[in-house]
Amino acid sequence: MNSLFDLSGKVAVVTGANTGIGQGIALALAAAGADIAAVGRSAAEETVTKARSMGRCAEIISADLSTIEPADRIVKETVDKLGRLDILVNNAGIIRRADSIDFTEEDWDAVIDTNLKSVFFLAQAAARHMIPNGGGKIINIASMLTFQGGIRVPSYTASKSGIGGLTKLLANEWAAEGINVNAIAPGYIATNNTAALQDDETRNRQIMERIPAGRWGRPKDLGGAAVFLASSAADYVQGHILAVDGGWLAR
Ligand code: NDP
Repeated sequence: MNSLFDLSGKVAVVTGANTGIGQGIALALAAAGADIAAVGRSAAEETVTKARSMGRCAEIISADLSTIEPADRIVKETVDKLGRLDILVNNAGIIRRADSIDFTEEDWDAVIDTNLKSVFFLAQAAARHMIPNGGGKIINIASMLTFQGGIRVPSYTASKSGIGGLTKLLANEWAAEGINVNAIAPGYIATNNTAALQDDETRNRQIMERIPAGRWGRPKDLGGAAVFLASSAADYVQGHILAVDGGWLAR
């Protein structure tokens, strides 16, 4: 492998690694050489088994990221089980859909707590470990709604827009400490999260027509961007939000 993208000897924490984009990213990092701590509510057995079949160490860390309580424990368990922590991928996320006029506080808090508050406090816990150990890479999973408004997803849009700002702020604060903080903004990716849209014939057709690449993204389409941002090839990339969207934003 080109040594610029070689992650051998690195340890990556990936949240929401049991399925979808998180699984795609975890397996791409493993293929590039990283050992994997797969964090989430549901045990990421398939991800861990596949990473081990590539010769990597891989561990499951159970955590519910709807609160910030597990943040320090995730870092501690990663270091205890895998020896170090070099890369954090803040991927876990949820969405709630309703008209803004009817949107409830419960749907607001649930999304903001998981998609934004936990992202910040897990980044903080990771940085407190990375800084005295020479730095690391933090990759936040943003969205097209980091750049656009969307409709009927007010807390999701606020959370993903917030991730864009947070990514830049943390890059500003931690670049001098050797931490690169960047984000990936996926376009329409076929996962459980978007199953209802894929199943709705009319919406599906509208979406496909709007994507210049002419197809939905797959979780593995995010892998290259994640490996790049996690690797030494991205040592001078800071506060960037990298769209992986089949050209959606270019349209
Ligand atoms: P999925 O619904 O397939 O996966 C979401 C992941 O987040 C699951 O692993 C889920 O775990 C985890 N998760 C949710 N809530 C919690 C929680 N409280 N604690 C721990 N883990 C949790 O969605 P995607 O793979 O599509 O989404 C992954 C990320 O990508 C999200 O941040 C999403 O916003 C973002 N994204 C997705 C796009 C798409 O088109 N699919 C587009 C743009 C952004 P569990 O299975 O246990 O619930």
